[in-house]
Amino acid sequence: MRILVVGGGGREHAIVWALKKSEKVKEIFCAPGNAGIAQLAECVPIPVSQFDELIRFAKDAAIDLVFVGPDDPLADGIVDAFEAAGIQAYGPRKNAAEIEGSKIFMKNLLKKYNIPTAKYETFTDYESASAYLRGQSAPIVIKADGLAAGKGVTVAATLEEAEQALRDAMVDKVFGEAGNQIVIEEFLEGQEMSILAFVDGETVRAMVPAQDHKPIFDGDKGPNTGGMGTYTPLPHIDQAIIDESIANIIIPAAKAMVSEGRPFRGVLFAGLMITKDGPKTIEFNARMGDPETQVVLPRLQTDLVDIVLASMNGHLDQLDIQWSEEAAVCVVVASEGYPASYPKGRVITGLAEAEAQGALVFHAGTAEKDGQFVTSGGRVLGIVGRGRDIAEARARAYEAVSVIQFEGKQNRTDIAAKALV
Ligand code: AMP
Repeated sequence: MRILVVGGGGREHAIVWALKKSEKVKEIFCAPGNAGIAQLAECVPIPVSQFDELIRFAKDAAIDLVFVGPDDPLADGIVDAFEAAGIQAYGPRKNAAEIEGSKIFMKNLLKKYNIPTAKYETFTDYESASAYLRGQSAPIVIKADGLAAGKGVTVAATLEEAEQALRDAMVDKVFGEAGNQIVIEEFLEGQEMSILAFVDGETVRAMVPAQDHKPIFDGDKGPNTGGMGTYTPLPHIDQAIIDESIANIIIPAAKAMVSEGRPFRGVLFAGLMITKDGPKTIEFNARMGDPETQVVLPRLQTDLVDIVLASMNGHLDQLDIQWSEEAAVCVVVASEGYPASYPKGRVITGLAEAEAQGALVFHAGTAEKDGQFVTSGGRVLGIVGRGRDIAEARARAYEAVSVIQFEGKQNRTDIAAKALV
């Protein structure tokens, strides 16, 4: 098969790496890709938003299957566009991707089908949102309705901070259209967990669970980022809680989408909070997570192409998906200044040494310049250590991180520490 992967981050590097292991794959292309992906696939410099160009390329290159990584093109209907052009694309159609593209759609869906989530109210104008807020107490959570590059959520410790978040979104429009409507939501306390699942209509095949670290600094301090590190499995969380999350949240959500005439095909990602009243939904995403993918796919033993083809052909329910027992820890290495503005073009050394140690080096924001790897993004690399347990995987990840150098390099030092307690 000839496969086109759409995207160019660490997630897509891990997807390309997993697809490449399949004997069914003859050639992989990636648009736009990055310098690490270029070692495994042919990168084509087409932005993920340029559907017409992507379709033209897919036709010219006789692509058999497209695998879409990021949220924005899915929300904008990239799968529908490929299908209309007669090209098979893996991922939800636009009407199903709305489970991520509109938080109001998602919250109303969960309410209608009695799926556990935080209590909430939705607002379309600033005055009524602000008046409602004055009657609430902190902490409280303010969410822009639409996609805001992972920055649309404010967990406010005080009502003043919540009011500021409302003004930013609804008056100053810092998220553009995405903030025209907002959700004000109850603050949930507990451990967070991500469960990704291959979904085809009512069929759900959950992946192994993972945990992300959103804030930039150790101890979950500082502003939120795209994700600074992940690990799997979650030895401190009972399997019963994981099973309950799949049975009470993910399967009912997949069924609800079918009932709404928006069957979901692709990867459905549930962000969950394990509260004292059981697991509750924080969010749904309509694609794989970044950096969850970087730790989950290394544990996948079944051919990823077989899973995708089974979904496309409507027999995912007949496939038994196997996972290894090993642990994996991903430490994200970021540029100086991230998640605010950051420099680019800094030379990266030590990548080959890290790989020689056995680590997986997934590139996120890198480019090639004069035969060297240089930084080109906020999150630069995801370094994955694997081992018999979290302690071993974690030690290996950090050992590999220590041999990688570039000016201004920053990473958290406490990824997966919670799982050691
Ligand atoms: P999201 O972009 O929806 O994943 O939200 C980003 C982060 O905000 C989540 O990973 C949680 O840590 C936090 N968060 C979102 N909603 C809530 C909530 N209702 N209660 C507590 N924390 C939340």
